[in-house]
Amino acid sequence: MTIRLHLPYEELPMVETLSAVPHLAEDVSRRLISACNLCGGTTTAPYCPQNGRGLVQCVSCGLVYVGQQPDAEALYTLYSANYFKNDHSGEVGYTNYAADEPNIRKTAHKRLAHIERFVPRGRLLDVGCALGFVMDVAHERGWQVEGLDVSQFAIETVKTRWGYTTYHGSLTEQNLPSAAYDAITMYDVIEHVPDPRAYVQEAARLLRAGGICELATPDIGSLPARLTGKRWIGYKLADEHVYYFSVATLTRMFNDAGFDVVYVRHVGKHVTLRLFLDRLGFYVPLLARPLQGLEQRLQLSQRSFYVNPLDIVAITARRRS
Ligand SMILES: [Zn+2]
Repeated sequence: MTIRLHLPYEELPMVETLSAVPHLAEDVSRRLISACNLCGGTTTAPYCPQNGRGLVQCVSCGLVYVGQQPDAEALYTLYSANYFKNDHSGEVGYTNYAADEPNIRKTAHKRLAHIERFVPRGRLLDVGCALGFVMDVAHERGWQVEGLDVSQFAIETVKTRWGYTTYHGSLTEQNLPSAAYDAITMYDVIEHVPDPRAYVQEAARLLRAGGICELATPDIGSLPARLTGKRWIGYKLADEHVYYFSVATLTRMFNDAGFDVVYVRHVGKHVTLRLFLDRLGFYVPLLARPLQGLEQRLQLSQRSFYVNPLDIVAITARRRS
């Protein structure tokens, strides 16, 4: 039984200067990834070297990743309060995650309705729960919810606002009970973690037979990713994404961990016009600037609509018995 506290929700701190944007230091310690996380292969080729992220592709299975990755502790320092609100979300984090709550909730309803086609409502763990919006929507829909995040800021926010059960840190260090969950969601998570294979294996352990794991992640094999090349927004610029999956590599990872993939689709998000134009400006500034001026004059910034850029893939997978 979850108790809802309904405490007033304070605005996130304003971020006014570039220096407040969470960035890893130039000299952050890095480790060379010597074996592919998915297949154990040790031969790689450079991948889209023009983007400067040091990406490599495993020649055996096709998994793409940052070849020299920051240590997990360093990676997790990115997820401070500023990660959820900053002026450089094309590079890292979000423009204003909290202010986007109505849109995130609409998107969550859509995604949970999809999951409910495959599994009856029961106990749900949201991995990478951020400020708890997906959890709260799931609770509204009749799920018993728990959330996990590496961001202490996020976890404290969820606890203070709603009082839901939360876990701080990596999924693989929690010792949660086996076969205890009916559904596990991981939205925009798997591309951030140092050991994605271990995350999916752990999800398999935590789910009961027949339980559903659903994740969403940028699709490096999608047409938009291929067409925009080094400018693809999925690459981000500040090291937060360290793995890049395709439908093929995700399917293999789920199969290896004891899942059957039951549904593959590209998912969008409800976004405000302002966010949409910000993202458009990332690709085509000459087109976006006049539209941004118009948007400000007509005060349309908070109007929202559903956008599906077809470069975020969602995999729905069922735990084999
Ligand atoms: Zn591989």
